[in-house]
Amino acid sequence: MKRNHIAGEWVDGRTAADNINPSDTRDVVGLYARADAEQAAEAIAAAHAAQPRWAASTPQQRFDALDAVGSELLARRAELGDLLAREEGKTLAEAVGEVVRAGQIFKFFAGETLRTGGELLPSTRPGLSVEITREPVGVVGIITPWNFPIAIPAWKIAPALAHGNAVVFKPAENVPASAWALAEILSRAHLPAGTFNLVMGRGRDVGEALLNDARVSAVTFTGSEATGRKVAQACIGRRGPMARFQLEMGGKNPLVVLDDADLEVAVNCAINGAFFSTGQRCTASSRLIVTDAIHDRFVAAMVERMKALVVGDARDARTSIGPVVDAGQLQQDTDYIDIGRREGARLAFGGEKRETVDGKPGFYLQPALFVDTHNGMRINREEIFGPVASVIRVRDAEEALATANDTEFGLSSGVCTTSLKLASHFKRHLQAGMVMVNAPTAGVDPHVPFGGRKGSSHGPREQGRHAAEFYTTVKTTYVAP
Ligand code: ADP
Repeated sequence: MKRNHIAGEWVDGRTAADNINPSDTRDVVGLYARADAEQAAEAIAAAHAAQPRWAASTPQQRFDALDAVGSELLARRAELGDLLAREEGKTLAEAVGEVVRAGQIFKFFAGETLRTGGELLPSTRPGLSVEITREPVGVVGIITPWNFPIAIPAWKIAPALAHGNAVVFKPAENVPASAWALAEILSRAHLPAGTFNLVMGRGRDVGEALLNDARVSAVTFTGSEATGRKVAQACIGRRGPMARFQLEMGGKNPLVVLDDADLEVAVNCAINGAFFSTGQRCTASSRLIVTDAIHDRFVAAMVERMKALVVGDARDARTSIGPVVDAGQLQQDTDYIDIGRREGARLAFGGEKRETVDGKPGFYLQPALFVDTHNGMRINREEIFGPVASVIRVRDAEEALATANDTEFGLSSGVCTTSLKLASHFKRHLQAGMVMVNAPTAGVDPHVPFGGRKGSSHGPREQGRHAAEFYTTVKTTYVAP
């Protein structure tokens, strides 16, 4: 059994659960510990005790630790990518890419330990000077979802540690293997015992324990909007000082295809953005907003490309789309396909569930493309989180822009056009944290800010230099001679 890591020790959970391969449900990836709230509290106590020592470490010590973790992730990309594909179901190429991303993030934040500085300003009052410095927040609770089982933990753990915080990390229940592998690497990085803790377990046990404990100063969460709201309420409503919180939640990301778009570029962006990683990305393009004159050509080209997508075992080299992560998510996807049909949308391609591929029982779903949809339909308002996309036909660029922005979400967005003027107009007016011009809405760099607006996000951006906004607290010091 793979155990939790608390106060520098590997400890049994209160219970344990099997980790199942979604490409072949007969395959058990491993048995993983599950903690309860009491065990989560032990991890919080350990982090709380260890944090001052880590905060007092030199930038070089932090650099060495994070750099070593990054190097090991990069060196083991094939093995860890295989494990990730086996437990989560994205293709091997996508999974290896995700491990590389995690390694790059640790390398970036290793560098940040040496670059972070303060400011020295003259005071408005005679004789004084003002120093602005950044200090660690304290203990950071990290709650992650299943869709990026190693990259999302990396982009929270690496900046938390780089900036001198201690960490209690709770991964999603259904993808403990990548989290455990990352924790095992971190356990050998010479951090003071208790600086990094892994507590596998359920949201309502371990997750809530993190939210309600006043020794946790900050909580960073990525997951569903419904749970994000609970996290915010708990962080504000708990006894003692409120916790700082950062939420990354859903998306209903538009990809706008304008009349003058390069058709091949637009179709590549849409296929990648809507269906790669089985559509299970918060940045997925779920609304394809297409102007009149290119609409029919776009739909025909999409259907042709979708016929060539091979749905199968994530670790089979022929596969282009892996299975859905689990039975619950598959049910949600097929429920939304039924909802779309009842709302009057027409399936131009896909949407069939398959019980087996090559004799392997798994959660397989043929990517689905709806046409004849409008932006008021539930399939265009609510996040499905599967390989299901809708085409929304619009008259012109202005209607496309208005439709793109008519959503409660605002994470990513895209436009395909060959016009500099239209590209500039959309760059300026798309209401989203990220805008992609002739590029898929999903797929981001590791060294620049990630995050959204409206219902998609709350709090400072993640990644890059901007991560310091969340993982540090600013101190202003006035000095008289
Ligand atoms: P999904 O629907 O993708 O599983 P969730 O938002 O439910 O998304 O899960 C994201 C993360 O939040 C997971 O690690 C999950 O265990 C955790 N979680 C779920 N419910 C709670 C809760 N009440 N308090 C804290 N964390 C929770």
